[in-house]
Amino acid sequence: MAVRQKNTADVLIIGAGPAGITASIYALRAGLSVIVLDGNFYGGQAAITSQIENYPAIRSISGAVFAQQLYQQAIDLKADIRFEEVISVDFAQKMKLVTTAKHSYAAKAVIVANGVKRRLLHCSGEKELTGKGVSYCATCDGMFFRDKNVIMVGGGNTALEDALFLSNQCESVLLVHRRDTFSAEKALVDAVMARKNITIMYNSQVTKINGRHKVTSVNIYNSAQQETISTPIDGVFIAIGYAPDNHIVSDFLEMSPEGYLLASENCHTKIEGVFVAGDTRTKPLRQIITACADGAVAAVAANSYVLKQIDF
Ligand SMILES: Cc1cc2nc3c(=O)[nH]c(=O)nc-3n(C[C@H](O)[C@H](O)[C@H](O)COP(=O)(O)OP(=O)(O)OC[C@H]3O[C@@H](n4cnc5c(N)ncnc54)[C@H](O)[C@@H]3O)c2cc1C
Repeated sequence: MAVRQKNTADVLIIGAGPAGITASIYALRAGLSVIVLDGNFYGGQAAITSQIENYPAIRSISGAVFAQQLYQQAIDLKADIRFEEVISVDFAQKMKLVTTAKHSYAAKAVIVANGVKRRLLHCSGEKELTGKGVSYCATCDGMFFRDKNVIMVGGGNTALEDALFLSNQCESVLLVHRRDTFSAEKALVDAVMARKNITIMYNSQVTKINGRHKVTSVNIYNSAQQETISTPIDGVFIAIGYAPDNHIVSDFLEMSPEGYLLASENCHTKIEGVFVAGDTRTKPLRQIITACADGAVAAVAANSYVLKQIDF
């Protein structure tokens, strides 16, 4: 006989990335009942990171293993993690309502930890070769391309900073930008121009990434010349931005002009009982450690809120 799952909890967490799972660990350890909903998989962006080497006390770990251990730690505490995408919320009443395509949920408190979504090139080979030479994080993956030849795609501050970072360890960096001027700040542009092993291709777009088990070459279309070239390459770094996607909570929570959720230092939003954690909120550094820190802070804040609610 199928067991009917309960759809109510003290705390409902949207997102099973580092922020959401950490929040569940802290909330469960505080004795709260918790449901975590993720529309994709556990681990969030961390799960697709090839190697994590900047998390204190863990010298090196693959993203997949990190995600698995994070998940297992929550499961050991009897976390109820369900793979359902949240499609709407209603935070108007004291009891918060969260809806997926399959179920409706009610919780005393909600932690929104839905992360950000990276902007993709949307070219052939990008998806298949992600983690096999295609990377969205030079800081994380640059050292795996030491003395190799890489492409950096983008024209903003992050792309140029990453190009400089990569040029310190790679043999060469080909900076591919779709416009004829950079949107990055002048000091960065000047530094890139002065760097001997960075070559710039303006008016250019990567149209195809080639390789079977790893990246071997890319096709680049130059709109000024109206021609496509193919060039051998070891790695493709893409920094065309990350974008928050907070449409599900936009009727209730305040956002920055860029669409990040606004929250106080302790992850409170303007709605009592609703907290935000991780990459989805305005913050200066989006990393696993800051996401986990937010998750912990949000869960403690949620616990403190739930403990005071005697009239539910
Ligand atoms: C390629 C890459 C490499 C990186 N390398 C490193 C590194 O080496 N070190 C480091 O510290 N950081 C690294 N980062 C950054 C780090 O992974 C993120 O900062 C961190 O994962 C953010 O955690 P989060 O839980 O806030 O969000 P996310 O990891 O984005 O998780 C959010 C989760 O919410 C889910 N979700 C979204 N919308 C919904 C919805 N409507 N309903 C249900 N679920 C939803 C998503 O499916 C996802 O699982 C890397 C990122 C990338 C992309």
